[in-house]
Amino acid sequence: MLVVVTGVSGTGKTTLGMGLSQALGLPFLDADQFHPPANIEKMGRGEPLTDADRQPWLAALASKLLDIEKQGGAVLACSALKNTYRQQLQVSDQLRWIHLTGSRDLIWERMLARQNHYMKAGMLDSQLSIWEKPSSGKLIDISGTPAQVLEASLHYLTQQEMKMNMGVIGMGVMGKSLALNLAENGVSVSLYNRFVAGKEEGIAQKVLDENPEFAQTAAFEDLQAFVTSLATPRRILMMIPAGAAIDAQLDALIPLLGKDDLVIDGGNSFYLDSDRRVNRLKEVGMHFLPMGVSGGEEGARKGPSIMPGGNAEGYALVEDFLGRISAKDKDGKPCVTYVGPGGSGHFIKMVHNSIEYGEMQVLAELVHLLRFGFGCSAAQVSEIFSDWGKGELKSFLLEITADLLLFKEGGELLLDKILDQAGQKGTGAWSLTTALEYGIPYSPLAEAVNARGVSGEKAMRVAFSKTFQHEFQPVEGALETWLPKIKEAYALARIINHEVGFRLMKTVSDAKGWDLNFNEIARIWTNGCIIRSGLMERISANYADPISFFEMAGVKEQVISGRKNLAEIVGLALTKGFALPVMSAGINYLLGRITAESSASVIQAQRDYFGAHTYQRKDDSSGKFYHTQWTNS
Ligand code: NAP
Repeated sequence: MLVVVTGVSGTGKTTLGMGLSQALGLPFLDADQFHPPANIEKMGRGEPLTDADRQPWLAALASKLLDIEKQGGAVLACSALKNTYRQQLQVSDQLRWIHLTGSRDLIWERMLARQNHYMKAGMLDSQLSIWEKPSSGKLIDISGTPAQVLEASLHYLTQQEMKMNMGVIGMGVMGKSLALNLAENGVSVSLYNRFVAGKEEGIAQKVLDENPEFAQTAAFEDLQAFVTSLATPRRILMMIPAGAAIDAQLDALIPLLGKDDLVIDGGNSFYLDSDRRVNRLKEVGMHFLPMGVSGGEEGARKGPSIMPGGNAEGYALVEDFLGRISAKDKDGKPCVTYVGPGGSGHFIKMVHNSIEYGEMQVLAELVHLLRFGFGCSAAQVSEIFSDWGKGELKSFLLEITADLLLFKEGGELLLDKILDQAGQKGTGAWSLTTALEYGIPYSPLAEAVNARGVSGEKAMRVAFSKTFQHEFQPVEGALETWLPKIKEAYALARIINHEVGFRLMKTVSDAKGWDLNFNEIARIWTNGCIIRSGLMERISANYADPISFFEMAGVKEQVISGRKNLAEIVGLALTKGFALPVMSAGINYLLGRITAESSASVIQAQRDYFGAHTYQRKDDSSGKFYHTQWTNS
């Protein structure tokens, strides 16, 4: 066992550390002995250390802890005032933290009583000002006697000895992958899956049996035993279906949990349900994190993009763990960030999925047009997409579409054997209803949802194609001439999809006072998630405001040059019998947004004509409303 006793100078770290060392039969280490001479001199002069001064000291301590763990462990007394210092010392998940705290007056009194120590009592305030509330371990108040402090510490350590850092509920595709990812990254984890006699039995144990390499794991199908297995404050991640299952699981969990415990909903719940659940857990003194996770099964196992919102104190309890398991951006930073309060984490995941719907649909439209309009083989389309993916159009979805166009089963293209009825689970439609509720134009992404609906009516489509003798017409002219235009049209359709999604996010963020950070949201979407792309990297670096989205560096030029091409490709495809719902809605949306003199004057005149709804005039800037008697009758 490794134990680190932390606290500002004067809290009694050495006294407790030596007591623990004796009681546990482990050697005692004093972190002060590892300071380089320059630090000791500086402290002796009464000068506070900087983070840079502390670096060599923390590195030496971390290396010592790693070494000594192999020999059975130790007790270390170390100030470790900030969470970043503590993270640097967390060399093993066997390491336990005791944090000594007390009132400033009490610590001051004890410091003044000390002799022969290079710390000056006056440095206490500087230490207290940088001390951060720890995200793990046990806080112990020093107002008791040294014997009482030792007893409380021993009680905690013996209780914690076999406890797991985190629990995961739901051993389906995502829960299992995230649990294994946690275990691989040094987080001990308890796995739980519901028990349904004769149907769902031993599911969590099966996960362990299939993955014997992870020793720091335990399996449960009894909820009470699962909860008891966790270190406090407990951290539980639910990966189960959205809706009633989440409320039912919370009903079962809450009576078993205690104050300050944390529950995370990592599924695709509706954000208003999540708003409600954050409040529900807050009322009973617990933390709740509604958390979007993107990346599918592989992402969850190897590094997803993670979007936690809700209770910020709860986030601090798992920030380190989530950082370890998430994907990393191009600068090596974890693709996870605290998104904002309430259900904001689930809200941005919902919009993320809606953009995903749009991006998938545009690719589906192009595959169809290239194959059945331009007569390309699937392999040729794959080559075109791979080529685009080498440049600024790179994206995960483009890459996988190029791949699946080559996949053969029994020598034949698997794609052509897949029934053309697209499924959906909810997030796309929820985004659309939210956009309608907030009055935000959403037609391109709404069309991606509608297209899946139309695809579902297979029998009717087949019957109507006969009734109306519908067939695709070949496009005249060489593909080489069209290809640069198709590429630009594709690039612009994607920009429009993203603009629509970001605009909805900004509108709802403002209305709910969430103050979402969109550069940061785009940054955590640059890796691990399904809509990672070169475009997302540009948005992350340049996003300023939804109003100027189209004017962003590197985007404005594409809006200017791609506009005619998108219109031309859509026009061409429509006349040849191809439905391109997202690309057509995209060009309509863009033209609508850049038209200074719109056709809405006609609408206002009609409204006033039949319903006396009134209108405002261009030649009167006062905002006054007019009504006209349009007929004599
Ligand atoms: P899944 O493979 O179907 O697994 C669902 C898990 O939930 C199973 O362990 C299942 O247990 C359990 N479960 C089902 N109904 C339950 C209930 N009423 N009470 C308690 N447990 C129940 O689903 P998944 O793909 O892992 O998805 C989990 C969540 O993550 C969903 O909200 C999903 O939308 C979201 N998500 C999925 C992906 C993805 O790519 N798959 C990506 C991001 C987010 P049994 O085995 O006993 O049925």
